Amino acid sequence: MPPLLSHYLDGQWESAGAAAESLNPSDTRDIVARIPLDDGSAVAAAVHAATKAFPAWADASLEVRSDVLDRVGSTILARKEDLGRMLSREEGKTLPEGIGEVIRAGRIFKFFAGEALRRTGVTVDSTRAGVDAATYREPLGVVGLITPWNFPIAIPAWKSAPALCFGNTVVLKPSELTPALAVALTEIVHEAGMPKGVFNLVIGSGAAGGALAAHADVAALSFTGSQATGARVASAAIARQARLQLEMGGKNPLVVLDDCDLDRAVQCALDGAFFATGQRCTASSRLIVTAGIYERFTAALAAKVAALRVGDALAPETQIGPLASQAQMDKTLAYLDIAAREGGVRRAGGEALSLAQPGYYVSPALIVDTQLDMRINREEVFGPVAAVVRVRDYDEALAAANAGEFGLSAGIMTSSLKYARHFTRNVRAGMVMTNLATAGVDYHVPFGGTRKSSYGAREQGFAAVDFYTQIKTSYSWA
Ligand code: NAD
Repeated sequence: MPPLLSHYLDGQWESAGAAAESLNPSDTRDIVARIPLDDGSAVAAAVHAATKAFPAWADASLEVRSDVLDRVGSTILARKEDLGRMLSREEGKTLPEGIGEVIRAGRIFKFFAGEALRRTGVTVDSTRAGVDAATYREPLGVVGLITPWNFPIAIPAWKSAPALCFGNTVVLKPSELTPALAVALTEIVHEAGMPKGVFNLVIGSGAAGGALAAHADVAALSFTGSQATGARVASAAIARQARLQLEMGGKNPLVVLDDCDLDRAVQCALDGAFFATGQRCTASSRLIVTAGIYERFTAALAAKVAALRVGDALAPETQIGPLASQAQMDKTLAYLDIAAREGGVRRAGGEALSLAQPGYYVSPALIVDTQLDMRINREEVFGPVAAVVRVRDYDEALAAANAGEFGLSAGIMTSSLKYARHFTRNVRAGMVMTNLATAGVDYHVPFGGTRKSSYGAREQGFAAVDFYTQIKTSYSWA
Protein backbone atom coordinates (compact mmCIF):
# COMPACT_ATOMS: atom_id res chain seq x y z
CA MET A 1 0.00 0.00 0.00
CA PRO A 2 1.50 3.41 -0.94
CA PRO A 3 2.14 5.67 2.05
CA LEU A 4 -0.52 8.15 3.16
CA LEU A 5 1.18 11.54 3.53
CA SER A 6 0.28 13.93 6.35
CA HIS A 7 0.23 17.64 7.00
CA TYR A 8 2.86 18.93 9.43
CA LEU A 9 1.35 21.45 11.83
CA ASP A 10 2.91 22.93 14.98
CA GLY A 11 5.65 20.27 15.03
CA GLN A 12 3.20 17.33 14.67
CA TRP A 13 2.24 15.09 11.75
CA GLU A 14 -1.53 15.44 11.31
CA SER A 15 -3.08 12.76 9.17
CA ALA A 16 -6.19 13.33 7.10
CA GLY A 17 -7.97 10.97 4.71
CA ALA A 18 -6.57 10.16 1.27
CA ALA A 19 -8.22 12.32 -1.37
CA ALA A 20 -5.77 11.92 -4.27
CA GLU A 21 -2.72 9.98 -5.39
CA SER A 22 0.63 11.03 -6.73
CA LEU A 23 1.73 8.82 -9.61
CA ASN A 24 5.05 7.85 -11.14
CA PRO A 25 4.91 9.51 -14.60
CA SER A 26 7.37 6.91 -15.93
CA ASP A 27 4.94 4.11 -15.00
CA THR A 28 1.48 5.26 -14.02
CA ARG A 29 0.67 1.88 -12.44
CA ASP A 30 3.09 2.86 -9.67
CA ILE A 31 1.36 4.99 -7.01
CA VAL A 32 4.01 6.99 -5.16
CA ALA A 33 1.79 8.31 -2.37
CA ARG A 34 -1.78 8.88 -1.24
CA ILE A 35 -2.45 12.41 -0.09
CA PRO A 36 -5.02 14.58 1.65
CA LEU A 37 -6.28 17.70 -0.12
CA ASP A 38 -6.80 20.40 2.46
CA ASP A 39 -9.99 22.45 2.30
CA GLY A 40 -8.44 25.34 4.24
CA SER A 41 -8.67 23.94 7.78
CA ALA A 42 -5.05 22.72 7.85
CA VAL A 43 -3.99 26.08 6.42
CA ALA A 44 -5.77 27.83 9.30
CA ALA A 45 -4.08 25.56 11.87
CA ALA A 46 -0.68 26.02 10.20
CA VAL A 47 -0.95 29.81 10.14
CA HIS A 48 -2.06 29.80 13.78
CA ALA A 49 0.98 27.70 14.77
CA ALA A 50 3.35 29.85 12.71
CA THR A 51 1.94 33.03 14.26
CA LYS A 52 2.50 31.67 17.80
CA ALA A 53 6.03 30.53 16.97
CA PHE A 54 7.09 33.77 15.30
CA PRO A 55 8.21 35.96 18.26
CA ALA A 56 10.61 33.38 19.70
CA TRP A 57 12.05 32.47 16.31
CA ALA A 58 12.47 36.12 15.33
CA ASP A 59 14.37 36.67 18.60
CA ALA A 60 16.44 33.46 18.43
CA SER A 61 20.20 33.86 18.29
CA LEU A 62 21.62 33.97 14.80
CA GLU A 63 23.65 30.87 15.65
CA VAL A 64 20.52 28.90 16.54
CA ARG A 65 19.01 29.69 13.17
CA SER A 66 22.27 29.13 11.32
CA ASP A 67 22.90 25.77 12.98
CA VAL A 68 19.49 24.33 12.23
CA LEU A 69 19.70 25.39 8.56
CA ASP A 70 23.19 23.91 8.36
CA ARG A 71 21.95 20.57 9.75
CA VAL A 72 19.10 20.54 7.21
CA GLY A 73 21.59 21.18 4.39
CA SER A 74 23.96 18.46 5.58
CA THR A 75 21.20 15.87 5.84
CA ILE A 76 19.85 16.68 2.39
CA LEU A 77 23.34 16.32 0.91
CA ALA A 78 23.96 13.06 2.79
CA ARG A 79 20.68 11.66 1.43
CA LYS A 80 21.13 12.90 -2.16
CA GLU A 81 20.89 9.43 -3.70
CA ASP A 82 17.65 8.31 -2.07
CA LEU A 83 16.01 11.74 -2.32
CA GLY A 84 17.13 12.02 -5.96
CA ARG A 85 15.60 8.62 -6.69
CA MET A 86 12.34 9.64 -5.00
CA LEU A 87 12.32 12.88 -7.00
CA SER A 88 12.87 11.12 -10.32
CA ARG A 89 10.19 8.59 -9.50
CA GLU A 90 7.60 11.22 -8.61
CA GLU A 91 8.43 14.09 -11.01
CA GLY A 92 9.99 12.24 -13.97
CA LYS A 93 13.31 14.00 -14.46
CA THR A 94 16.25 11.62 -14.96
CA LEU A 95 18.16 10.32 -11.95
CA PRO A 96 21.24 12.55 -12.54
CA GLU A 97 18.88 15.53 -12.85
CA GLY A 98 17.02 14.45 -9.71
CA ILE A 99 20.22 14.04 -7.69
CA GLY A 100 21.47 17.37 -9.07
CA GLU A 101 18.33 19.11 -7.85
CA VAL A 102 18.68 17.56 -4.39
CA ILE A 103 22.30 18.74 -4.17
CA ARG A 104 21.15 22.22 -5.12
CA ALA A 105 18.56 22.15 -2.30
CA GLY A 106 21.22 21.07 0.21
CA ARG A 107 23.62 23.78 -0.95
CA ILE A 108 20.87 26.40 -0.64
CA PHE A 109 20.35 25.52 3.05
CA LYS A 110 24.12 25.67 3.60
CA PHE A 111 24.31 29.06 1.88
CA PHE A 112 21.54 30.51 4.06
CA ALA A 113 23.11 29.00 7.19
CA GLY A 114 25.95 31.41 6.40
CA GLU A 115 23.66 34.30 5.48
CA ALA A 116 21.93 33.98 8.87
CA LEU A 117 25.15 35.25 10.45
CA ARG A 118 25.41 38.17 8.05
CA ARG A 119 22.57 40.40 9.24
CA THR A 120 23.67 43.94 8.52
CA GLY A 121 22.29 47.44 8.79
CA VAL A 122 23.85 50.85 8.37
CA THR A 123 24.59 53.67 10.74
CA VAL A 124 24.04 57.13 9.34
CA ASP A 125 25.09 60.52 10.65
CA SER A 126 21.87 62.37 11.46
CA THR A 127 21.19 65.86 10.16
CA ARG A 128 20.48 66.79 13.79
CA ALA A 129 23.31 67.32 16.30
CA GLY A 130 23.34 64.70 19.06
CA VAL A 131 21.05 62.30 17.18
CA ASP A 132 22.14 58.90 15.86
CA ALA A 133 20.36 57.14 13.01
CA ALA A 134 20.62 53.44 12.05
CA THR A 135 18.79 50.81 10.04
CA TYR A 136 17.96 47.22 10.99
CA ARG A 137 16.51 44.38 8.99
CA GLU A 138 13.51 42.72 10.63
CA PRO A 139 11.63 39.55 9.70
CA LEU A 140 8.09 39.96 8.35
CA GLY A 141 6.14 37.34 10.33
CA VAL A 142 4.36 34.33 8.81
CA VAL A 143 5.36 33.72 5.21
CA GLY A 144 3.21 31.58 2.86
CA LEU A 145 5.12 29.61 0.20
CA ILE A 146 3.25 28.14 -2.78
CA THR A 147 5.37 25.97 -5.07
CA PRO A 148 5.06 24.07 -8.37
CA TRP A 149 5.94 20.47 -9.25
CA ASN A 150 8.90 20.95 -11.61
CA PHE A 151 11.54 21.54 -8.89
CA PRO A 152 9.83 19.76 -5.99
CA ILE A 153 12.67 20.16 -3.50
CA ALA A 154 14.80 23.02 -4.88
CA ILE A 155 11.98 25.58 -4.97
CA PRO A 156 10.67 24.80 -1.45
CA ALA A 157 14.34 25.06 -0.38
CA TRP A 158 15.06 28.38 -2.09
CA LYS A 159 11.97 29.92 -0.52
CA SER A 160 11.98 28.37 2.96
CA ALA A 161 15.74 28.62 3.67
CA PRO A 162 15.90 32.45 3.35
CA ALA A 163 12.50 32.87 5.04
CA LEU A 164 13.73 30.92 8.09
CA CYS A 165 17.23 32.36 7.97
CA PHE A 166 15.98 35.90 8.52
CA GLY A 167 13.59 34.96 11.35
CA ASN A 168 10.23 34.38 9.63
CA THR A 169 8.01 31.39 10.23
CA VAL A 170 6.74 29.37 7.28
CA VAL A 171 3.67 27.63 5.86
CA LEU A 172 4.64 25.63 2.77
CA LYS A 173 1.97 24.50 0.27
CA PRO A 174 3.74 22.37 -2.36
CA SER A 175 2.25 21.12 -5.61
CA GLU A 176 -0.23 18.28 -5.18
CA LEU A 177 1.59 16.48 -8.05
CA THR A 178 4.88 16.11 -6.15
CA PRO A 179 4.17 16.15 -2.39
CA ALA A 180 6.56 13.32 -1.43
CA LEU A 181 9.65 15.52 -1.72
CA ALA A 182 8.08 18.28 0.37
CA VAL A 183 7.25 15.70 3.05
CA ALA A 184 10.83 14.36 2.95
CA LEU A 185 12.16 17.91 3.32
CA THR A 186 9.81 18.49 6.25
CA GLU A 187 11.02 15.29 7.97
CA ILE A 188 14.58 16.56 7.64
CA VAL A 189 13.62 19.98 9.02
CA HIS A 190 11.88 18.26 11.97
CA GLU A 191 14.88 16.01 12.69
CA ALA A 192 17.22 19.00 12.49
CA GLY A 193 15.52 20.36 15.62
CA MET A 194 13.42 23.16 14.18
CA PRO A 195 11.27 24.55 17.02
CA LYS A 196 7.60 23.59 16.71
CA GLY A 197 5.43 25.90 14.66
CA VAL A 198 8.35 27.52 12.83
CA PHE A 199 7.96 25.35 9.72
CA ASN A 200 4.56 23.97 8.70
CA LEU A 201 3.46 21.91 5.70
CA VAL A 202 -0.03 21.73 4.20
CA ILE A 203 -0.79 19.28 1.40
CA GLY A 204 -3.48 20.39 -0.99
CA SER A 205 -4.39 21.76 -4.37
CA GLY A 206 -5.48 25.21 -5.51
CA ALA A 207 -8.06 25.50 -2.70
CA ALA A 208 -5.35 25.24 -0.04
CA GLY A 209 -3.14 27.69 -1.95
CA GLY A 210 -6.06 30.08 -2.21
CA ALA A 211 -6.77 29.83 1.53
CA LEU A 212 -3.11 30.61 2.27
CA ALA A 213 -3.04 33.59 -0.11
CA ALA A 214 -6.20 35.01 1.46
CA HIS A 215 -5.33 34.42 5.13
CA ALA A 216 -5.20 37.71 7.03
CA ASP A 217 -2.29 36.60 9.24
CA VAL A 218 0.08 35.72 6.40
CA ALA A 219 2.40 38.71 6.09
CA ALA A 220 4.03 37.75 2.81
CA LEU A 221 3.52 35.28 -0.05
CA SER A 222 6.14 33.84 -2.32
CA PHE A 223 4.63 31.98 -5.26
CA THR A 224 6.16 30.05 -8.16
CA GLY A 225 3.91 28.63 -10.83
CA SER A 226 1.95 29.58 -13.91
CA GLN A 227 1.10 33.11 -14.92
CA ALA A 228 -2.65 32.47 -14.57
CA THR A 229 -2.37 31.18 -10.99
CA GLY A 230 0.08 33.94 -10.13
CA ALA A 231 -2.52 36.51 -11.14
CA ARG A 232 -5.04 34.90 -8.75
CA VAL A 233 -2.57 34.83 -5.87
CA ALA A 234 -1.74 38.47 -6.57
CA SER A 235 -5.40 39.56 -6.37
CA ALA A 236 -5.82 37.89 -2.98
CA ALA A 237 -2.54 39.23 -1.59
CA ILE A 238 -2.89 42.77 -2.88
CA ALA A 239 -6.48 43.02 -1.62
CA ARG A 240 -5.11 42.73 1.92
CA GLN A 241 -1.78 44.50 1.29
CA ALA A 242 0.42 41.44 1.90
CA ARG A 243 3.96 41.51 0.59
CA LEU A 244 4.15 39.54 -2.64
CA GLN A 245 6.69 37.81 -4.86
CA LEU A 246 5.67 35.89 -8.01
CA GLU A 247 7.89 33.76 -10.25
CA MET A 248 6.01 32.61 -13.31
CA GLY A 249 6.45 31.40 -16.86
CA GLY A 250 8.95 32.01 -19.61
CA LYS A 251 9.27 31.85 -23.39
CA ASN A 252 13.02 32.12 -23.29
CA PRO A 253 14.93 33.03 -26.47
CA LEU A 254 18.31 31.63 -27.41
CA VAL A 255 19.80 33.78 -30.19
CA VAL A 256 22.24 31.97 -32.50
CA LEU A 257 24.38 34.26 -34.66
CA ASP A 258 26.33 33.37 -37.81
CA ASP A 259 29.65 33.90 -36.03
CA CYS A 260 29.04 31.43 -33.17
CA ASP A 261 30.77 28.14 -32.41
CA LEU A 262 28.22 25.85 -34.07
CA ASP A 263 28.87 22.76 -31.92
CA ARG A 264 28.52 24.76 -28.72
CA ALA A 265 25.36 26.45 -29.99
CA VAL A 266 23.79 23.08 -30.80
CA GLN A 267 24.77 21.67 -27.41
CA CYS A 268 23.40 24.70 -25.52
CA ALA A 269 20.14 24.59 -27.49
CA LEU A 270 19.79 20.85 -26.86
CA ASP A 271 20.43 21.21 -23.15
CA GLY A 272 18.36 24.37 -22.66
CA ALA A 273 15.36 23.26 -24.66
CA PHE A 274 15.01 19.56 -23.90
CA PHE A 275 16.79 18.44 -20.72
CA ALA A 276 14.48 18.04 -17.72
CA THR A 277 11.91 17.26 -20.48
CA GLY A 278 11.66 20.98 -21.29
CA GLN A 279 9.85 21.50 -17.99
CA ARG A 280 12.01 24.34 -16.74
CA CYS A 281 10.79 27.92 -16.55
CA THR A 282 14.15 28.93 -18.09
CA ALA A 283 13.93 26.44 -20.98
CA SER A 284 15.11 27.71 -24.40
CA SER A 285 11.77 27.33 -26.12
CA ARG A 286 12.49 29.91 -28.86
CA LEU A 287 15.62 29.48 -30.99
CA ILE A 288 16.25 32.66 -32.99
CA VAL A 289 18.81 31.97 -35.70
CA THR A 290 20.43 34.26 -38.28
CA ALA A 291 20.15 33.26 -41.93
CA GLY A 292 23.82 32.45 -42.58
CA ILE A 293 23.89 29.57 -40.07
CA TYR A 294 20.19 28.61 -40.07
CA GLU A 295 20.41 25.51 -42.31
CA ARG A 296 23.56 24.10 -40.67
CA PHE A 297 22.27 24.78 -37.15
CA THR A 298 18.81 23.26 -37.67
CA ALA A 299 20.23 20.18 -39.45
CA ALA A 300 22.79 19.53 -36.71
CA LEU A 301 20.27 20.14 -33.90
CA ALA A 302 17.57 17.98 -35.53
CA ALA A 303 20.02 15.07 -35.71
CA LYS A 304 20.89 15.44 -32.01
CA VAL A 305 17.24 15.80 -30.99
CA ALA A 306 16.22 12.68 -32.92
CA ALA A 307 18.98 10.72 -31.16
CA LEU A 308 17.85 11.61 -27.62
CA ARG A 309 16.79 8.51 -25.67
CA VAL A 310 13.37 8.93 -24.05
CA GLY A 311 12.42 6.53 -21.29
CA ASP A 312 11.87 5.70 -17.64
CA ALA A 313 13.39 8.46 -15.51
CA LEU A 314 15.24 5.91 -13.38
CA ALA A 315 16.73 3.88 -16.25
CA PRO A 316 20.46 4.62 -16.62
CA GLU A 317 20.32 5.01 -20.43
CA THR A 318 17.47 7.57 -20.35
CA GLN A 319 18.33 11.14 -21.38
CA ILE A 320 14.79 12.54 -21.44
CA GLY A 321 12.20 11.40 -18.91
CA PRO A 322 8.41 11.56 -19.27
CA LEU A 323 6.27 14.65 -18.85
CA ALA A 324 5.13 15.08 -15.27
CA SER A 325 1.41 14.45 -15.75
CA GLN A 326 -1.36 13.63 -18.20
CA ALA A 327 -2.24 17.33 -18.30
CA GLN A 328 1.34 18.27 -19.27
CA MET A 329 1.35 15.59 -21.97
CA ASP A 330 -2.02 16.70 -23.37
CA LYS A 331 -0.88 20.33 -23.39
CA THR A 332 2.38 19.48 -25.19
CA LEU A 333 0.59 17.44 -27.87
CA ALA A 334 -2.05 20.17 -28.29
CA TYR A 335 0.66 22.79 -28.91
CA LEU A 336 2.34 20.51 -31.46
CA ASP A 337 -0.98 20.42 -33.36
CA ILE A 338 -1.36 24.19 -33.05
CA ALA A 339 2.18 24.73 -34.39
CA ALA A 340 1.51 22.44 -37.35
CA ARG A 341 -1.76 24.23 -38.16
CA GLU A 342 0.06 27.58 -37.96
CA GLY A 343 2.60 26.39 -40.57
CA GLY A 344 5.54 25.24 -38.40
CA VAL A 345 7.51 22.31 -39.89
CA ARG A 346 8.40 19.44 -37.57
CA ARG A 347 12.03 18.43 -38.14
CA ALA A 348 12.29 15.92 -35.27
CA GLY A 349 10.16 14.16 -32.68
CA GLY A 350 6.80 15.32 -31.45
CA GLU A 351 5.19 11.87 -31.13
CA ALA A 352 3.40 10.35 -28.15
CA LEU A 353 5.44 7.21 -27.43
CA SER A 354 4.12 3.83 -26.28
CA LEU A 355 6.84 2.16 -24.25
CA ALA A 356 6.74 -1.14 -22.36
CA GLN A 357 5.16 0.61 -19.38
CA PRO A 358 2.38 3.23 -19.40
CA GLY A 359 3.75 6.75 -18.93
CA TYR A 360 3.60 10.30 -20.27
CA TYR A 361 6.21 9.93 -23.00
CA VAL A 362 6.63 12.36 -25.89
CA SER A 363 9.67 12.45 -28.19
CA PRO A 364 11.42 15.86 -28.06
CA ALA A 365 10.19 18.06 -30.90
CA LEU A 366 12.06 20.56 -33.05
CA ILE A 367 9.80 22.79 -35.12
CA VAL A 368 11.48 24.92 -37.77
CA ASP A 369 10.38 27.78 -40.04
CA THR A 370 8.09 29.29 -37.42
CA GLN A 371 7.02 32.91 -37.26
CA LEU A 372 7.31 35.09 -34.17
CA ASP A 373 3.61 35.78 -33.92
CA MET A 374 2.60 32.09 -33.90
CA ARG A 375 1.17 30.82 -30.62
CA ILE A 376 4.05 28.32 -30.38
CA ASN A 377 6.34 31.36 -30.00
CA ARG A 378 4.12 33.35 -27.67
CA GLU A 379 2.68 30.87 -25.17
CA GLU A 380 4.51 28.67 -22.70
CA VAL A 381 4.27 24.95 -23.60
CA PHE A 382 6.38 23.64 -20.71
CA GLY A 383 7.36 20.46 -22.54
CA PRO A 384 10.19 19.14 -24.76
CA VAL A 385 9.40 21.46 -27.68
CA ALA A 386 11.57 24.14 -29.31
CA ALA A 387 10.51 26.41 -32.16
CA VAL A 388 13.05 27.96 -34.54
CA VAL A 389 12.67 31.43 -36.06
CA ARG A 390 14.87 32.62 -38.94
CA VAL A 391 16.08 36.25 -38.77
CA ARG A 392 18.28 38.34 -41.08
CA ASP A 393 20.80 39.80 -38.63
CA TYR A 394 21.59 40.70 -35.03
CA ASP A 395 19.18 43.66 -34.88
CA GLU A 396 16.29 41.51 -36.01
CA ALA A 397 17.37 38.80 -33.55
CA LEU A 398 17.33 41.21 -30.61
CA ALA A 399 13.89 42.53 -31.60
CA ALA A 400 12.63 38.93 -31.83
CA ALA A 401 14.12 38.04 -28.45
CA ASN A 402 12.33 41.03 -26.91
CA ALA A 403 8.95 40.18 -28.45
CA GLY A 404 6.17 38.70 -26.34
CA GLU A 405 5.09 39.17 -22.77
CA PHE A 406 7.63 37.05 -20.86
CA GLY A 407 11.18 38.04 -19.85
CA LEU A 408 12.78 35.42 -17.61
CA SER A 409 16.02 34.19 -19.21
CA ALA A 410 17.67 34.93 -22.57
CA GLY A 411 20.84 33.73 -24.25
CA ILE A 412 23.11 34.56 -27.15
CA MET A 413 25.62 32.35 -28.97
CA THR A 414 28.28 34.48 -30.63
CA SER A 415 32.02 35.09 -30.82
CA SER A 416 31.44 38.84 -31.11
CA LEU A 417 32.12 40.81 -27.95
CA LYS A 418 30.21 43.71 -29.49
CA TYR A 419 26.98 41.73 -29.96
CA ALA A 420 27.34 39.88 -26.65
CA ARG A 421 27.70 43.14 -24.75
CA HIS A 422 24.88 44.87 -26.61
CA PHE A 423 22.56 41.88 -26.06
CA THR A 424 23.41 41.67 -22.36
CA ARG A 425 22.48 45.31 -21.90
CA ASN A 426 19.43 45.46 -24.15
CA VAL A 427 17.57 42.18 -23.92
CA ARG A 428 14.46 42.47 -21.76
CA ALA A 429 15.03 39.53 -19.42
CA GLY A 430 15.98 39.10 -15.78
CA MET A 431 18.84 36.71 -16.59
CA VAL A 432 21.09 36.77 -19.64
CA MET A 433 23.57 34.13 -20.79
CA THR A 434 26.44 34.44 -23.27
CA ASN A 435 27.51 31.16 -24.90
CA LEU A 436 25.55 29.25 -22.25
CA ALA A 437 22.13 27.58 -22.18
CA THR A 438 19.26 29.76 -20.92
CA ALA A 439 18.58 27.18 -18.19
CA GLY A 440 21.01 26.25 -15.42
CA VAL A 441 21.74 28.92 -12.84
CA ASP A 442 23.79 29.30 -9.67
CA TYR A 443 22.10 29.21 -6.27
CA HIS A 444 23.94 32.11 -4.64
CA VAL A 445 22.98 34.88 -7.08
CA PRO A 446 19.60 36.55 -7.73
CA PHE A 447 17.00 34.77 -9.85
CA GLY A 448 14.00 36.29 -11.59
CA GLY A 449 12.60 37.94 -14.66
CA THR A 450 10.93 40.97 -16.13
CA ARG A 451 7.41 41.69 -17.40
CA LYS A 452 4.95 38.76 -17.01
CA SER A 453 7.65 36.36 -15.79
CA SER A 454 8.13 37.85 -12.34
CA TYR A 455 6.62 40.30 -9.92
CA GLY A 456 8.17 41.75 -6.79
CA ALA A 457 11.65 41.41 -5.35
CA ARG A 458 14.17 38.95 -6.77
CA GLU A 459 14.56 35.49 -5.25
CA GLN A 460 17.67 33.64 -4.10
CA GLY A 461 21.23 34.40 -3.17
CA PHE A 462 22.15 37.80 -1.79
CA ALA A 463 18.89 39.29 -3.11
CA ALA A 464 16.64 37.13 -0.92
CA VAL A 465 17.06 39.44 2.08
CA ASP A 466 15.10 42.15 0.26
CA PHE A 467 11.92 40.08 0.14
CA TYR A 468 12.16 38.26 3.46
CA THR A 469 12.97 41.28 5.65
CA GLN A 470 11.79 44.82 6.10
CA ILE A 471 13.94 47.78 7.08
CA LYS A 472 13.45 49.63 10.33
CA THR A 473 15.09 53.04 10.74
CA SER A 474 15.89 54.05 14.32
CA TYR A 475 16.78 57.51 15.69
CA SER A 476 18.17 58.09 19.16
CA TRP A 477 19.33 60.97 21.27
CA ALA A 478 21.13 60.67 24.55
P1 NAD B 1 0.42 26.12 -11.18
O1 NAD B 1 0.25 27.58 -11.33
O2 NAD B 1 -0.63 25.23 -11.75
O3 NAD B 1 0.54 25.70 -9.65
C1 NAD B 1 1.53 26.26 -8.80
C2 NAD B 1 1.08 26.13 -7.36
O4 NAD B 1 -0.07 26.96 -7.16
C3 NAD B 1 0.66 24.73 -6.95
O5 NAD B 1 1.08 24.49 -5.63
C4 NAD B 1 -0.86 24.80 -7.02
O6 NAD B 1 -1.52 23.86 -6.19
C5 NAD B 1 -1.11 26.21 -6.54
N1 NAD B 1 -2.40 26.79 -6.92
C6 NAD B 1 -3.22 26.43 -7.93
N2 NAD B 1 -4.30 27.23 -7.97
C7 NAD B 1 -4.17 28.13 -6.96
C8 NAD B 1 -4.94 29.23 -6.50
N3 NAD B 1 -6.08 29.57 -7.07
N4 NAD B 1 -4.46 29.94 -5.44
C9 NAD B 1 -3.28 29.63 -4.87
N5 NAD B 1 -2.51 28.60 -5.26
C10 NAD B 1 -2.94 27.85 -6.30
O7 NAD B 1 1.85 25.79 -11.82
P2 NAD B 1 2.52 24.37 -12.04
O8 NAD B 1 1.85 23.68 -13.18
O9 NAD B 1 2.63 23.66 -10.74
O10 NAD B 1 4.00 24.79 -12.46
C11 NAD B 1 4.39 25.10 -13.76
C12 NAD B 1 4.55 26.59 -13.92
O11 NAD B 1 5.51 27.08 -12.99
C13 NAD B 1 5.08 27.00 -15.28
O12 NAD B 1 4.34 28.09 -15.78
C14 NAD B 1 6.51 27.42 -15.00
O13 NAD B 1 7.05 28.34 -15.91
C15 NAD B 1 6.40 27.98 -13.64
N6 NAD B 1 7.70 28.00 -12.97
C16 NAD B 1 8.31 29.21 -12.81
C17 NAD B 1 9.55 29.28 -12.19
C18 NAD B 1 10.22 30.60 -11.98
O14 NAD B 1 11.00 30.70 -11.05
N7 NAD B 1 9.93 31.62 -12.77
C19 NAD B 1 10.17 28.11 -11.73
C20 NAD B 1 9.51 26.89 -11.92
C21 NAD B 1 8.27 26.86 -12.52
